[in-house]
Amino acid sequence: MSEDVIYLDYNASTPCDPRVVQAMLPYLTDVFANPSSRSHGPGREAFSALEGARETTRRLLGARSVTEIVFTSGATEGNNLALIGTARALENRGRHIITQATEHPSVLQPLMSLQRDGWEITTLGVDGDGCIQLEKLASAIRDDTVLVSLMLANNETGTLQPVREAAAMIHERGALLHCDAAQGIGKVDVNVADLGVDMLTVSGHKFYAPNGVGAVYLRRSKPPLRRPPLIHGGGHEGNLRSGTPNVAGAVALARALEIAAEERETESERVSALRDELEASIVSALEGCTVNGSPANRLPGTTNLSFSGIEGNALLASLQNLALSSGSACTSGHSDASPVLLAMGVAKNLARASLRLSLGRFTTASEIDRAGRRIIDEVQRLRGITRRP
Ligand SMILES: *Cc1c(COP(=O)(O)O)cnc(C)c1O
Repeated sequence: MSEDVIYLDYNASTPCDPRVVQAMLPYLTDVFANPSSRSHGPGREAFSALEGARETTRRLLGARSVTEIVFTSGATEGNNLALIGTARALENRGRHIITQATEHPSVLQPLMSLQRDGWEITTLGVDGDGCIQLEKLASAIRDDTVLVSLMLANNETGTLQPVREAAAMIHERGALLHCDAAQGIGKVDVNVADLGVDMLTVSGHKFYAPNGVGAVYLRRSKPPLRRPPLIHGGGHEGNLRSGTPNVAGAVALARALEIAAEERETESERVSALRDELEASIVSALEGCTVNGSPANRLPGTTNLSFSGIEGNALLASLQNLALSSGSACTSGHSDASPVLLAMGVAKNLARASLRLSLGRFTTASEIDRAGRRIIDEVQRLRGITRRP
C-alpha cells in the first residue's frame, strides 16, 4: 500500500498481523504435509497443528467440544453451510426461517435460494438505528419456524443486534439461532455460550488473519443434526466441507483469535476514541452531516456518515488517498443506495451520499486527523461546485 494512503476500510478486510504471519509460516514450508496422511510423521504433525488450532478456536469462542468447530474458507461459506445445511437437516420439522433486513448478502442470498426451493423467509425490518425490535421477532416466530439468523454487528453501520436477548425467545419456541459474527471478533465479546447461539460464523480476514480462512461453530445437539455438506468429497471437517484442510490458515485463525482476546478491551477503547474524534470533527465542521446507526450501541471502530447535497460517488472519487467505502464493499461496484441504510429509513439521496469509515489495529491519531480534514475539505469543495449557478 502506498505510503500516503490512509486505510479506513478495516470492516472490508484487515492486514495480517505480523504475529499471525509468524505463527503460520512454518505451516507453509516445513509442516506442509496433508493432515489426513496420518500414516507418516509429517502428516501427523500437520494433523496435530490443525487440531491444536481447533482446540484454541473452541476455547476462545466458548464452545464445549472441538467437534463443534468447522474450518471454512470464510464467513460466506460458514453462513451458507449453517443456513442451508440446517434448513435441509430440519426440513421435515418446518420450513419457516426468520432473518432481518440489514444482514450481509452471504446470509440473505442463501436464504433467497432456500426460498426458491420452497422455504418461507420472513425478513424483519429495523428501526432508525438499524436494530430489530424483539417484540416483532416474538410475533414472527411460528410453530414451523426452525431457524433464525441475526448478525452480531452490521458491517456498514456497526449497529449491534440484541442477539443474546433474542436467543432465549427463539429457544423457548423450539427454533435455532444462527449468528453472523464476522464483524464481532476483537471488537466486542464473542462467546457462543454467553450469546446462547446455536451457530456462529467468523472470518479470518476481518480480524488480522489472512483471507480465505474462517470457522463456523455448530452446536452439538441430541440427536445430532444431519446437515448435508455443500462441498462433497473425502469427508473432511466432519463431512461438512470436504477438501484438504488449510492448516496454515487454521493456525493463523487461532493465533489471530488469541491476540484479539488479549487485546480486545484496550484496543476497543483506543479505536473507539479515535472514531469519536473523527466523527465529531467532521460533524461539527459540516452542516447537513448525519451519523447513520446507533451512536450508543455499535462497534468501536465504525462510523457511517451521510452528507446532504453531494453525490456519494463524486465524494469517494475525490478522496483518492483515503481507502474507504460507500455502503458495503461486498456489494460495491454498482452505485445503488445501500440497502442497509434504506432499510433504516435513510432517504435515498442521503443513502447515496454516505461513507463508511472503519478503523482498526493500525490506525493512528495522525491518520485520523488528516483523514478528517480531507473529508471536510472535499465535502465543502463539492458543495461549492454544486451550488454554483
Ligand atoms: C465480511 C463479512 C462476511 C463475509 O466474509 P468472507 O470471509 O469475506 O466471506 C459476512 N458477514 C459479514 C457481516 C461480513 O462483514
